[in-house]
Amino acid sequence: MFKKVLIANRGEIAVRIIRACRELGISPVAVYSEPDRNALHVKYSDESYCIGPASSQQSYLNMEKIIKVAEEAGVEAIHPGYGFLAENANFARRCEECGFVFIGPKADTIEKMGYKVTARKTMMEAGVPVVPGTVEPIKDDNEAFEIASEIGYPIILKAAAGGGGKGMRLVRDEKEMRSALRGARSEGLSAFGDDALYIEKYIERPRHIEIQILSDMHGNTVHLFERECSIQRRHQKVIEETPSPFINDDIRKRMGEVAVRAARAARYLGAGTVEFIVDRDKNFYFLEMNTRIQVEHPITEMVTGIDIVKTQIEIAAGKEIPFKQEDIRQHGWAIECRIYAEDPENNFFPAPGRIYILKNPSGPGIRDDCGIYEGCEVSVHYDPLISKLVAWGRDRREAIERMKRALREYVIVGVKTTIPFHIWALEDEDFIAGNFDTTFIERKFKSIPRQKEDKEVAGILSAILTHINEKTKKPTEKSLSQDSAWKIAGRRMLMNRL
Ligand code: ADP
Ligand code: ADP
Ligand code: MG
Repeated sequence: MFKKVLIANRGEIAVRIIRACRELGISPVAVYSEPDRNALHVKYSDESYCIGPASSQQSYLNMEKIIKVAEEAGVEAIHPGYGFLAENANFARRCEECGFVFIGPKADTIEKMGYKVTARKTMMEAGVPVVPGTVEPIKDDNEAFEIASEIGYPIILKAAAGGGGKGMRLVRDEKEMRSALRGARSEGLSAFGDDALYIEKYIERPRHIEIQILSDMHGNTVHLFERECSIQRRHQKVIEETPSPFINDDIRKRMGEVAVRAARAARYLGAGTVEFIVDRDKNFYFLEMNTRIQVEHPITEMVTGIDIVKTQIEIAAGKEIPFKQEDIRQHGWAIECRIYAEDPENNFFPAPGRIYILKNPSGPGIRDDCGIYEGCEVSVHYDPLISKLVAWGRDRREAIERMKRALREYVIVGVKTTIPFHIWALEDEDFIAGNFDTTFIERKFKSIPRQKEDKEVAGILSAILTHINEKTKKPTEKSLSQDSAWKIAGRRMLMNRL
C-alpha cells in the first residue's frame, strides 16, 4: 500500500479522501490556495503546501505546481477527487510521466470518455444503447437544422467536451435553433476551450439513473447498483437516492450488466460511473461516463457497505477487488441532499460568507460529509457545496423521515443555504410517492415563502452579526462558543423557518 498520497482538491471531497487514507494507514498530504490556508482539509492532513492564489487556474488547476509539491513531499500517488483536474487526461499523463500513480483510470480512457462523441462511438461499438443522435460533431448550422429535422424536435445540443451541466441547450423547434447554437458554442468555448457540438434526441420527462462501477488491474469489473439522480436544477443533481424507486430488479440487473460492458469497452480502471437517461417506458440509454469519484458516491456506500474511496485507492495500488458481483447487495435505502451556500428564496443565488454557527446533525442513520467549520469562510472562488447530508433507513420512508429530521437539526448561521429547499422537496407528495423526473424542480418549485416571524428574527440576527463583524472582523473562539441570545435566536430562526 502507498505510504503517502497527495490530494489535489479541496472542500468536502478532500476531507473524504483524507479519511480513507487514514483508515488505510496512508499519510495524507494536502494542497491549498491562499484563501484556503485554514480550510478543513488542511487541518485534517499531515502536511500541507500552498500552491498559489485564489484563482483555480493558478492553484488547484496548476498541474506543474502540484507535481512539484508531490516531488517535494515524496508521495507515491495523487488523488484528484472530482472537478478540477479529475477528468484531465494531460494531468493523469503528467503524473505517470513523473512517476506518480494517478488514482483513476489511464489517461487514454479519460480522453476517450471525456469527449462525449468518442464516448458515444465507443459505447455503440460495444453494443451499449446510446441516446439517438449524431456520432460526429456537427459541421455547421445547416447540418444542425438537417439533423434536427431528421431526428425530430425537441433535441438537445451538447458541447462535445461538456460537463457539469454546461454547454447544453434544449431546442424545442426550428425557431429556437440559431440562438441555442450560439449559446451552446460560446459556453463550450469559455468552459472547455472547445466549441464543437453534437445533437441528441431530447427524452421527455426522463429519469437520470446511473451505475457505479469498480474495475481492477486483474480483469475484475463489478457494479454497485444504481443511483437515482433525477432531482436536478439546470441539469445539475441536488438530491440523489438509491435504490431508484422507478426501476424493478429486472431492469436493475440489465443496467448493471450494460454498465459493466461499458466499463470493459473503455478499458476502465478504478471507480467510475456510467450515466443513463431512462424514458417513461423504462428504456435506458447511455448518457456519459464519469471517470472519477462521483459527488453522490456516499449513498452507494451506505446501502452496499463498500467504501468506494478506499477501494479506489487499493485498486490504484494494484490490489484485487476483494469481493465478487454476487457478494454485493443493496441493503435498505439512502438519500443524499447537497447543501449549497445558495439562497433558495432568491433563485438559488450564491451566498458566500462567514459561518458563525455550525451544528451538524447526527444520530441514527445520518452521515454528514461536511467541508466547513464554525468560523470559516465560504469563498466566492469555488463550488458553493458546503455539505452532503446522507440519511440511511431500512426503507425509503424511514430514509426520508430521517433526512427531514436531520435537515431540521442542521444549524448553519452566517450564510443562506439550500436546507429549506430540501425540506420542501422531501415534503412534496410526488417526491414521497417516488413520482418525479428531471423536470420536477422546474415544474414544481416556486420559492420558499419567508415567514413573518423568521423575517423579524433574521433582521435582529443580521444586525447583531454586522455589529460583531465590525467590532472584531474575525469572530474569536470565545464569541462563538458562548451560549448567547443570538445563538439561540439563530437556532430558533432555523428550526421555525417553514
Ligand atoms: P457528479 O456527476 O459527480 O454529481 P457534477 O456534475 O455535480 O458531478 O460535478 C462535480 C463537480 O465537478 C462540480 O464542481 C462540477 O462543476 C465539476 N465538473 C464536472 N465536470 C466537469 C468538467 N468536465 N470540467 C470541469 N469541471 C467539471
Ligand atoms: P454533464 O456532462 O453536464 O453531466 P450529461 O450528458 O450527463 O451532462 O447530462 C446532464 C443532465 O442533462 C442529465 O442528467 C439530464 O437531466 C439532462 N439531459 C442530458 N441529455 C439529455 C437528453 N438527451 N434528454 C433529456 N435530458 C437530457
Ligand atoms: Mg453527467
